[in-house]
Amino acid sequence: MSIITKEITKLYGEQKALNNVSLEIKSGEIVGLLGPNGAGKSTMMKILTCFIPPSSGSATVCGFDIIEQSIEVRRRIGYLPENNPLYVDMYVREYLEFIAGIHKLGQATQKRITEMIEITGLQVEQSKKIGALSKGYRQRVGLAQALIHNPEVLILDEPTSGLDPNQLVEIRNLIKNIGKEKTVMLSTHIMQEVEAVCGRVIIIDNGRIVANKSTSDMHINESNKQIIFVEFDAQVSKSSLKTINGVIDAQNIKDNKWEITANNDKDIRTDIFQFAVKNKFAVISMNKEEQTLEQIFQKLTKK
Ligand code: ADP
Ligand code: MG
Repeated sequence: MSIITKEITKLYGEQKALNNVSLEIKSGEIVGLLGPNGAGKSTMMKILTCFIPPSSGSATVCGFDIIEQSIEVRRRIGYLPENNPLYVDMYVREYLEFIAGIHKLGQATQKRITEMIEITGLQVEQSKKIGALSKGYRQRVGLAQALIHNPEVLILDEPTSGLDPNQLVEIRNLIKNIGKEKTVMLSTHIMQEVEAVCGRVIIIDNGRIVANKSTSDMHINESNKQIIFVEFDAQVSKSSLKTINGVIDAQNIKDNKWEITANNDKDIRTDIFQFAVKNKFAVISMNKEEQTLEQIFQKLTKK
């Protein structure tokens, strides 16, 4: 496990920013921490990167305790904080040298900087001042500084906020690429971002985890029914469709198109297909109704 948190609670005065949060992230995973503003995403990231301590609970990063072994933790974590604070008056290389100094990279510094500039696609902009860069390029500098000491784990707090659609796609692709070799936790309030980048999503609301699933499982309808839209090449009767094991109801939508409701014990698409084969129909199209991540998010986080 790269990250394990156990019952983390964080209080700011009276306010509970995190409430008993336990989660695990395996090494190599790209996990999205999804939640509305004020959910506690940044607080969780600041705790994992040893910037603030939890009020109670514990956490480890790569097996090291965030309180007892914070130096070991910091060595293994690359962090892109919210709003990516950069020194606008510094040149890109100068800034990366400064960060390399903090990590005591010594003789490896120049080689690492050149590598980071390549990985993050900063070649053309490398001799500019950070203040002269577009937001998308500043994010690249932010990623370069997070990666420079070759950490195992990357914590990225809203890495794409404020980017235009082109920059957004570029940065997402960059994160995906980097994520091939690292464990990544990124926060976002954009549902599509999670679908585009993450293998797993942890939805957090009001300081609590309300969902924790693989991105593909997220779409599975949680109700005890499944709905299948199917089109045959010939007329089929409602009564014959209802003979398929598990089918509760069949509604004719139009021509040979049907909306079939079934128990959610198992995916009945195979049964529908076999039914068609047995009766010498062809299945022209068949789709299972899925919830969009947006619908799930709203359902889970609406007050
Ligand atoms: P998110 O990153 O999901 O938007 P945060 O972790 O920044 O959420 O904040 C969670 C909650 O904690 C919010 O209600 C926020 O107002 C509160 N909070 C965050 N930082 C502080 C702080 N330094 N002092 C007091 N309250 C804070
Ligand atoms: Mg935040």
